Amino acid sequence: MAGLSDAALTARLVRVAASVLGAPLAALFRLDGDKANLVERVVRLEQASEVTQMTLPAARLRIDARRVWHAAQRTRAPTELVAFPSSTRVAWAVSTPLFDGKKQQIGLLVVADVRARAEDGVVALDDVCELLEDKLAPGKAVRATPRPEDTRPRAFAGPALVHTMPPPPTPGRAPSSREESSSERRIPFDPMTGLPDRTTLLDETVRRIERASVLQLGLALVVIALDRFRRVNETLGQNVGDTVLRQVAERLRESVGDADLVGRRSGDEFMVVVQDDGAAGAPLALADRLQQAIREPFHIQGQELTISASLGVARFPDHSSDAQGLFRAADIALARAKQSGRGKLVVFDHAMQEAVNTRAELERELRIAMREGQLLLHYQPKFQVKDRRLVGAEALLRWKHPTKGLISPGHFIPVAEDSGLIVPIGTWALGEVCRQRAAWHRLGLPVGRISVNVSSLQFARPDFVGTVTRAMRAANVTAGELELELTESIVMDDVEHVAARLSELRALGVAVSIDDFGTGYSSLAYLQRLPVDVLKIDRSFVRPLDRGGHDARGAHALAGAIATLARGLGLEVLAEGVETEAQLAALAELGCDVIQGFLLGKPMPAMDLAALAARAH
Ligand code: C2E
Ligand code: CA
Ligand code: CA
Repeated sequence: MAGLSDAALTARLVRVAASVLGAPLAALFRLDGDKANLVERVVRLEQASEVTQMTLPAARLRIDARRVWHAAQRTRAPTELVAFPSSTRVAWAVSTPLFDGKKQQIGLLVVADVRARAEDGVVALDDVCELLEDKLAPGKAVRATPRPEDTRPRAFAGPALVHTMPPPPTPGRAPSSREESSSERRIPFDPMTGLPDRTTLLDETVRRIERASVLQLGLALVVIALDRFRRVNETLGQNVGDTVLRQVAERLRESVGDADLVGRRSGDEFMVVVQDDGAAGAPLALADRLQQAIREPFHIQGQELTISASLGVARFPDHSSDAQGLFRAADIALARAKQSGRGKLVVFDHAMQEAVNTRAELERELRIAMREGQLLLHYQPKFQVKDRRLVGAEALLRWKHPTKGLISPGHFIPVAEDSGLIVPIGTWALGEVCRQRAAWHRLGLPVGRISVNVSSLQFARPDFVGTVTRAMRAANVTAGELELELTESIVMDDVEHVAARLSELRALGVAVSIDDFGTGYSSLAYLQRLPVDVLKIDRSFVRPLDRGGHDARGAHALAGAIATLARGLGLEVLAEGVETEAQLAALAELGCDVIQGFLLGKPMPAMDLAALAARAH
């Protein structure tokens, strides 16, 4: 090493110290009276270009023995050391005091890693430390005794060196006021699970992503939502719910490494950030492990309970090169997972982003459509089976897009539901149907009862009955002229509440039908408890009726059973999606009262329905 200046040699030694342990980070401080100055710093085995002027109170760094520090022991979350750039989060560090000949501490060498690791091998630093001691205090006597070791886990060299996050509180225990004042900020851990809370988690993730981009590492972000957790709280009580959350937290923690980040993002959502070495299946395997961990039955208060979770996974830098983008990607994947049923795991891909963009664009255009009157209603006639007489019609939304032409409701209703736009759209449709029905009434056209589809979001509004009442009054619609189509899932929710609501509607003279019957889970026995007028047999039961074979026999039996039972309950039975005479004949035989379908009438503009009614007259 001849020819190098002392400073260059010191710098090289610090680099050697890091490489001896295979760690990416090292820093050397020289103690000078009551000050400690940063002499050299190495980040990722490169001498940090912006070696900062950094002076700390020496007392912070005065230690008398080598100390090894693990993030795991304190916070589970790696933390910042002031010596290193703020984006670098340290999971493991060893600090070694450097002494002069008189055994006075003259410096401190810190070697650190962003990954958790074992303590093994830190003695390998001894030779480098001696050389460094020789540089800091030339002529010092050669050490006779081994360097003192004290590798008990402990807090690192004091708060000035370490920006530690305070340790998580014992679950369920509120921090005492003394702890509060000593840390002088709110403890950023979720008191229930002891995990980093939302804010901490997001900050920490942002930092890890920044650090990963500096160190050119990969990360995987997994968002985890417990499926139907509200149900657990509702049916088994808050205490059980809390216990489940704590146990889930524990299981997640056990499923990842010490250096990995686990936090609680919201009530029933957790998040995990792990290093990702880029291997194709790695994050998937982890996510799978997390999911399995949650699926194991819980034993709480003598009960066995099983829950599942939906998971969304996004990878840095493949899916996004910044934190916000990565969060979004993971959330998009999570939304996909939820959509495809419970207990699913979805890894983000860019096509999903495109789908989301298309959807966002559609939502934007839908708002414009509402404002500019591009929405309109078509009416599909309903006929009595026995004499094919027109008895009513269903109002169906249509969107006349200025450039794309007619857009099907199957396309835009889901977007309207997701964005909540379905509420104003539904209210508009209700008002429009009322106006139209009243106009036909005034013209004396026997169009029968007009039905409107109601979305669950609309029905859930506390003022729903009020909205219907106002729409009817404003247009002057009389009893028996309006019908609301509700799906099974809407009425399955809370029987007492729903029954009360339906009774109010009935008092207004509004009929209620159960749409798409047979596709949900409701039983006829359940429906018996609700004031409902019409059962609409879903077209999936109607379709196979004119085909031969097994399918047809099954459909026949089902449609027949539904019709018989519904009639037994005094409900009118309507079959939808009737396309052929054969289907119609089969339905007539099964005792169906009313049919709706392309065979007798497609959805049509209001004018055409009026003409149809006039002809029938
Ligand atoms: P839905 O309530 O089950 O409406 C019946 C759908 O079946 C309509 O599709 C109709 O055009 C179609 N259909 C009728 N007869 C036949 C047939 O013989 N064969 C076949 N293959 N299909 C037939 P549309 O108009 O595309 O509506 C789709 C869905 O959009 C509706 O299903 C309903 O869930 C929703 N929707 C439509 N208008 C509204 C609305 O004003 N509010 C709400 N919330 N949803 C609406
Ligand atoms: Ca319908
Ligand atoms: Ca339907």
